[in-house]
Amino acid sequence: MKIEINGNSLELMIGDITKQSTEAIVNAANGTLMGGGGVDGAIHQAAGSDLVEECKKIREEDLDGNYLRTGKAVITKGYNLPAKFVIHTVGPVWDGNKQSAKERLVHAYNNSLKLAMENRITSVSFPSISTGVYRYPVQLASVVAINAIIDFLQNNTFGKVVLTLFSEKDYQAYEDALKKKLSNL
Ligand code: ADP
Repeated sequence: MKIEINGNSLELMIGDITKQSTEAIVNAANGTLMGGGGVDGAIHQAAGSDLVEECKKIREEDLDGNYLRTGKAVITKGYNLPAKFVIHTVGPVWDGNKQSAKERLVHAYNNSLKLAMENRITSVSFPSISTGVYRYPVQLASVVAINAIIDFLQNNTFGKVVLTLFSEKDYQAYEDALKKKLSNL
């Protein structure tokens, strides 16, 4: 499904984000930036070990050795990926607190999009942040993600946003959320 918003486009598709050739892909990272399971592991695997080296440098030089905090985003090169850049953001771990999880998930999407714009990037692919290992129910996370992305596109001249979902079930959840949002615009 593909729609236009304020001269920008938003597309939902099923696929593997490591194969996406948008200028940037977003990684649902953890605060260590050292890779992990799920989409994070797949991105590090496909990018090659130069990616973890750049992440280490960011941890040491930009974050004073600290973890990247939930909702924040940093950018690296894409190395062996088709995408030129990777934007690493940390989504919230689901703890049943709907309101605080929502706020932190909105920050993750917004800060990723802002960072892309600051770097003059005009196309970006997102995975379904927080709905894997971090256990955020996809029916709820999809509504939050769609609202955050659409609000951003309504207020900015950006380009193209793709949500690359990894299963039919996830795609359905995002498509339902998008259709519902469109009917209320
Ligand atoms: P989180 O820790 O933020 O929950 P996960 O990587 O565990 O991150 O899961 C986020 C989503 O990414 C899940 O829906 C998972 O199925 C999906 N995913 C895993 N691998 C890929 C991939 N290669 N491309 C796109 N999505 C992926």
